[in-house]
Amino acid sequence: MWDHANQLFPICRSITGDGLRQTLGHLKKVIPKIEIKGIPSGQKIFDWTIPDEWNPKNAYMIGPDGEKIANFHENNLHLVSYSVPMHKRMSLSDLQSHLHSIVEKPDLIPYRTSYYKRDWGFCLPHRTRQNLKDGIYEIYIDSEIKPGVLNYGELLIPGQTEKEIMFSTYPCHPSLANDSLSGVVIALALAKNLMNRNDLYHSFRFLWTPETIGSLAWLDSNIGRAKEVIQAGFVLTCLGDDGPLSYMPSRKGKTLADRVITKMLYDNNLAFDSYSFNQRGSDERQFCHPNVDLPFASLMRSIYGEYEEYHTSGDDMGLLSPAALQESFNLYFRIIEMLEKNRVYKPMTIGEPQLGKRNLYANLSDSTLDEDEMVRFKILGYADGELDLISLSEIVDEPFDVVSSQVQILVDAQVLELVK
Ligand code: ZN
Repeated sequence: MWDHANQLFPICRSITGDGLRQTLGHLKKVIPKIEIKGIPSGQKIFDWTIPDEWNPKNAYMIGPDGEKIANFHENNLHLVSYSVPMHKRMSLSDLQSHLHSIVEKPDLIPYRTSYYKRDWGFCLPHRTRQNLKDGIYEIYIDSEIKPGVLNYGELLIPGQTEKEIMFSTYPCHPSLANDSLSGVVIALALAKNLMNRNDLYHSFRFLWTPETIGSLAWLDSNIGRAKEVIQAGFVLTCLGDDGPLSYMPSRKGKTLADRVITKMLYDNNLAFDSYSFNQRGSDERQFCHPNVDLPFASLMRSIYGEYEEYHTSGDDMGLLSPAALQESFNLYFRIIEMLEKNRVYKPMTIGEPQLGKRNLYANLSDSTLDEDEMVRFKILGYADGELDLISLSEIVDEPFDVVSSQVQILVDAQVLELVK
């Protein structure tokens, strides 16, 4: 994950264009089964339209003393994404409305986009901006905006059933590491791991698609089936820094995606900050929209909008660590393991089964139950053919893994049976 992030970081990505294609091409080299789709510019997608394709090649300003400022080749954040081509001379005062900086973060370059309104601009540290001398500046932007395609990458890993678990992430940000790229490489690693399995109950779908317009483009052709088969979905982003764990619920808050995230965190004694759906910021905005209503939630580290470096040049590879990426991978891996075992069981007896004759209950009654007996006693009170294992373990207030292994013992003893 660390190596892939390092290789992908320098590429100037956007919601369309060569940088996005190059990134998807990199992913496809790792997993050749990833399909790369293309939706043509101009195509209507719900309330949106696929924009023309943008390809930047070079951009900078030359100051009155001949110095090069805001050089795109030094940092691609210097150029406002989707800037139109431009070559002209103008005064600093006329230029100011096209410059972007953050007063409170004077050493960081902000990340700005203008996807749907033809515009141009440069982003620079506020300190640099303050030191710009009066005079005439030469503006040079070598970019191309013309009809093309919006690309996304999709991978389906079939399991024994058509019930799907979905992971969505967005490879549409330029050189930003925690926001966007961390999710892209964790999705790649999870997919690569699942590709090697032949025991999967669920089918797993991975989507690497530009945020908002790309997830809407996918929904446009998949929403009907998605609503039938998707059991739980997760937006993967902001997973590579050392910040606290953050949980963004689905709109409804009690979907399987929510329940598995919170139960996993609870079972592993992990502290986390819980957010409200009012603070949503990524593709849960589309997947959980009332007229889409898919069960998507997100477990992140430092959440978008909240960390100092968010959407600035400070969100670089220095913010990520291999250890944090690995830990995030492990958390999602546990989530997958729980979902795979999350089945529904019902009793095979009317009234309590006689556990003693099955060697599951101490025959010498001294009224105390050992730990396993106690867990089995609780399970047998609630396993009803309706509750899945995650709900069951929540109700009996025991760790999922403990409940899962005791349920297996009860199944082997023909006390419980699998319903679905
Ligand atoms: Zn972002």
